[in-house]
Amino acid sequence: LDRGLLAPRTDAMNFLSTLTGCFAQPAAENPTVAMVEAAYRAAGLDARYLNCEVAPADLGDAVRGARAMGWAGFNCSIPHKVAVVAHLDELAPSATIIGAVNCVVHRNGRLIGENTDGQGFLTSLRTVVDPTGKHVVVFGAGGAARAITVETALAGAASVTVVNVDRGRGEALARLLDEHTPTAATFAPWNGPYRLPESADVVVNATPIGLFPDVDGRLDLDLDSLRPHQVVADVIPNPPSTPLLRDAAARGCQTLDGLGMLVNQGVLGIKLWTGVDADRDVMAETLQRLFTA
Ligand code: NDP
Repeated sequence: LDRGLLAPRTDAMNFLSTLTGCFAQPAAENPTVAMVEAAYRAAGLDARYLNCEVAPADLGDAVRGARAMGWAGFNCSIPHKVAVVAHLDELAPSATIIGAVNCVVHRNGRLIGENTDGQGFLTSLRTVVDPTGKHVVVFGAGGAARAITVETALAGAASVTVVNVDRGRGEALARLLDEHTPTAATFAPWNGPYRLPESADVVVNATPIGLFPDVDGRLDLDLDSLRPHQVVADVIPNPPSTPLLRDAAARGCQTLDGLGMLVNQGVLGIKLWTGVDADRDVMAETLQRLFTA
């Protein structure tokens, strides 16, 4: 870490806080700030996380500002995850393949782009199953699907099926995985109730279906194709209990919610910026409180 980036609260004569935050537009509704600052407080860190409203035309200046002020790093959210790459010095290998960065780390004067969305998912997945050799079926082909499938493929998944309504986007993601990871990837069109193949080990919703206020939103899925050996995961953090996860649990599947994934990507960011292992429970409770308020 750069000199001065970590300022322990116990040092009464050090008034230089560690600075982190998020660049997005819109920025006001992003709850990550509450989750991360709760973790900083619990760890006794004199660190701040600022939500910053940054227009696309100002992104370069915002990044240069963060560099000039010695920020420890920052998250990027909509619409900056792809555009920020042009302003960085280096990308982590998975972020290079994904082509998007949601977490920037300032290390030895260099800005390094990471993608912690997929890694956060992987941390959740590994609590119940090792992805090595598994067949993963993912609904959606946007940013979340790209991050999740690339990380899972690099972690050793044997095969990935991308199920998507838009054929062009679905095929492009399958091709990306085929060309840049050791995993065999296929595209499956989604134009009616999708029947999961019996070989599916891990099933992931990476679409916004189920996200507040669409809390009753259900994937167009043949529920009889859900089998008890499958792990079913959802990216939706709010509300964490989605119709998909309830349907899957009712059929005996193990389930993983999107709140866990969001907490995990926050934990990874805090570790990269400060070196501290953040308290997951404090972070999850903070989000739960906000989502149920
Ligand atoms: P994108 O807009 O990049 O992609 C959305 C994908 O979902 C597209 O492939 C789109 O299909 C598909 N989709 C959208 N609506 C429907 C629908 N009604 N039926 C079928 N398919 C649909 O979004 P992101 O990938 O960035 O985000 C997706 C979700 O993931 C968001 O809800 C976000 O909150 C969540 N997320 C959660 C994270 C976490 O940490 N828990 C981290 C990142 C994201 P098509 O290509 O056919 O248009």
